[in-house]
Amino acid sequence: MTRSKDYYAALGVGRDASPEEIKKAYRQAALKHHPDRNPGDREAEEKFKAAAEAYAVLSDPGKRERYDRFGTVGGPGEEFSGFDPTVFSPFQDILGDLFGFGDLFGRGRGGSRAARGNDLRYDLDLAFRDAVHGTQRAIQVPRLETCLHCGGTGHPPGSRPEACSACKGRGEILYRQGFLSIARACPQCGGAGRIHKDLCAKCQGRKRLEKTKSLDLNIPPGVADGTTLRLSGEGEGGVHGGPPGDLYVVLRVAEDEIFRRQGDDLHLEVDLPMALAALGTTVQIPTIEGSEDLDIPPGVQPAEVIRLKGKGVPHLKGAGRGDLFIHVKVAVPKRLSKEQKRLLEEFQKTLKEPKDFIGKVRDLFN
Ligand SMILES: [Zn+2]
Ligand SMILES: [Zn+2]
Repeated sequence: MTRSKDYYAALGVGRDASPEEIKKAYRQAALKHHPDRNPGDREAEEKFKAAAEAYAVLSDPGKRERYDRFGTVGGPGEEFSGFDPTVFSPFQDILGDLFGFGDLFGRGRGGSRAARGNDLRYDLDLAFRDAVHGTQRAIQVPRLETCLHCGGTGHPPGSRPEACSACKGRGEILYRQGFLSIARACPQCGGAGRIHKDLCAKCQGRKRLEKTKSLDLNIPPGVADGTTLRLSGEGEGGVHGGPPGDLYVVLRVAEDEIFRRQGDDLHLEVDLPMALAALGTTVQIPTIEGSEDLDIPPGVQPAEVIRLKGKGVPHLKGAGRGDLFIHVKVAVPKRLSKEQKRLLEEFQKTLKEPKDFIGKVRDLFN
């Protein structure tokens, strides 16, 4: 199986640590061991990776529970693959929380990088018939939008970075240890040597602002439960000129009391009295567009299905519609009046006497 690692030890917390304690411990470890702050230090890099891996597991309640029970995160035959690159995203979030602005270390690599905004998801409940016919809906989406004042940079428009006061613009700081001098990236400017003195007055350096966006959705006919509409560029705003993410609207379609939907076909049950099933009749049936008269031929059988082509749900892709299937249920009366009984017996006498079943079996064995 997999080498078991002590994720709690990697973060220096107890097994009963709360999510807040874990977050705090990771924040401290990440800041201390981050490669940008410890260039060339292999041990720090290993510690940083170990902390990130531990945090990826312990910050996820499901993964943490599996780890606590089995000492590993993967299921049978599956192994948690050491270092997951996605752990960088909570890492950035945390540092954002900590400093009140985004990529502190981005500047250490020669300037602030453009980053695309996150994709967002919005679940929308729809009535059955609105899904069939299509509809218009207005939704309110809370999201982070790029700060227009600073263009998502976090500092005042036109401001130029100045030499960092801590490292005098060198980007690194020398530490003396005995005879050795060790250069480390400057913690104030992240190694860039230059730093913006002021924060954007509008977003205070956060680069984005919380806003609620009103969007008019055009929901096309034929959508189904689970259909996802992608609204390009309507997700979270980007920073430093990065594009916005996309918004995914996931539709939740309710069931109908009359129709059962299967793909783009609709199914409907119709109760038909026994005599009418034999004689044939015309019944009024509901359709998704209203109602219509349906001719039922004489001699329709119980559970027979009548198909009305093109009376189902419009195809979402391409022209045309599904079909409507009418499931005939022949209703046999449970109680008969004297008169009805007499008439049915009368009717029965007119039929050819069916060969008696026991007689048939006897023939078979003789
Ligand atoms: Zn500096
Ligand atoms: Zn701003």
